Amino acid sequence: MADLSERLEAARAEVARLEREIAQGPCREYGHQWQSHGGSNAGCSKDCCCSVPVNVCAKCGDCDYGDNQEADEIRRNCKDLMDG
Ligand SMILES: [Zn+2]
Ligand SMILES: [Zn+2]
Repeated sequence: MADLSERLEAARAEVARLEREIAQGPCREYGHQWQSHGGSNAGCSKDCCCSVPVNVCAKCGDCDYGDNQEADEIRRNCKDLMDG
């Protein structure tokens, strides 16, 4: 039994190591770790008053300036409202 729990410990240590590596790894390899950084005006039209979420990467500090899926959806909804 001791052997099995030793192997489990080793596996857990490996998982922890990999998680740490991913967390600290370069964004271009592992992707940005986006964190909400408030919102900004969507500016989809001149009468628009939508606010889109802006994210900042917790690792490299990169900013998506509202270039994300949620923001796309908000802009699309705004256009639909204006048309309709
Ligand atoms: Zn990043
Ligand atoms: Zn809008």
